[in-house]
Amino acid sequence: MSFDPSSISVPSDLLPADGRFCCGPSKVRHEQVDAIVAARDTLLGTSHRKPPVKNLVGAVRSKLSDLFALPDGWEIVLGNGGSTVFWDVATFGLVRERSQHAVFGEFSSKFAEACASAPHLGTPSVVKSDVGTHPSLHAEDGIDAYALTHNETSTGVAMQLTRPAGTSADSSLVLVDATSAAGGLTWSPSEVDVYYFAPQKCFAADGGLWLAACSPAAIERINEIGGSERWRPASLDLAIALDNSTKNQTYNTPAVATLVMLDAQLDWMLGNGGLDWAAGRSATSAATLYGWAEARDWASPFVANPDERSNVVGTIDLDDSIDANDVCAVLRQHGVLDTDAYRKLGRNQLRVGMFPAIEPSDIEALTATVDHVVAQMS
Ligand SMILES: *Cc1c(COP(=O)(O)O)cnc(C)c1O
Repeated sequence: MSFDPSSISVPSDLLPADGRFCCGPSKVRHEQVDAIVAARDTLLGTSHRKPPVKNLVGAVRSKLSDLFALPDGWEIVLGNGGSTVFWDVATFGLVRERSQHAVFGEFSSKFAEACASAPHLGTPSVVKSDVGTHPSLHAEDGIDAYALTHNETSTGVAMQLTRPAGTSADSSLVLVDATSAAGGLTWSPSEVDVYYFAPQKCFAADGGLWLAACSPAAIERINEIGGSERWRPASLDLAIALDNSTKNQTYNTPAVATLVMLDAQLDWMLGNGGLDWAAGRSATSAATLYGWAEARDWASPFVANPDERSNVVGTIDLDDSIDANDVCAVLRQHGVLDTDAYRKLGRNQLRVGMFPAIEPSDIEALTATVDHVVAQMS
């Protein structure tokens, strides 16, 4: 007999005030949409080569530098296409010959595949670990770029960012996919050369843009490859993107509304205390979610090692007697959205976005709601 989600109802006082728990695109705060309305006569529909939009790009760049406390000499570079396109950008403009990759889920494997298929690069070195854990990288001869993922969104594993043992900042770059981490997890610029992301996760804007915080060593590499004979498509050329970004422009037309939402989110984070404050909200949510799962005999955090559990993407395995798809179907009927496991992981699991925009009290309400649904189901 198939399960009818409408057979279960949840009292409205149990439900989260906002039901958006997607891991990307993620909850956009109302104030960010208000910022779009406020921009309707001055920014939307105006030239990206004129001061209003250029000033907006400049504001985003300088606020990101403040948020990450970037040292002198770092630059925020941006362009169109999101993080997936940045992988291609990096194969053309950051990897000199050979990269090494920490692979521990869907997203981290994609950059390794992009490097493996680039005809101008050597076969990458891949260091893998089981899903639900992360591997550590090590110095290897001939590697000029080490690829880490701050938060593996497909599994809910986060890693501390440190330069791989035995490597030095002079000879190799550390490239970090921070798409779902940037703005919600802390990191130290001394351990990283390129910290790249798209704004539809912790920054609660829309997808389609990539942004990369680049160290002086990264900028040197961009200019070195930019001055070489290597063929690069212009739209993927990091030297062209860098040149445009330092002029507060993008090579081609950006989505202005996305920039407005990103800027509003940066104001919110900086106005409340910056990265520590934003990361603290996610940490509070994570403590609630994992603590709740540990206290249930039918639920448990998927990531066994508490040090590797993500504060921004929580993955909770359910007992086989409870079908997570049924739980998600009941939640969806009540406006609680996108708590499904990552498709390709194929586990009986809930996956919950805990980005800074999501109220920690709504994570609390979500756990009470799931308790109620599971009690009604059994
Ligand atoms: C979402 C995500 C991506 C893909 O981002 P797009 O902007 O859709 O290309 C890449 N890496 C990680 C870790 C992600 O979470």
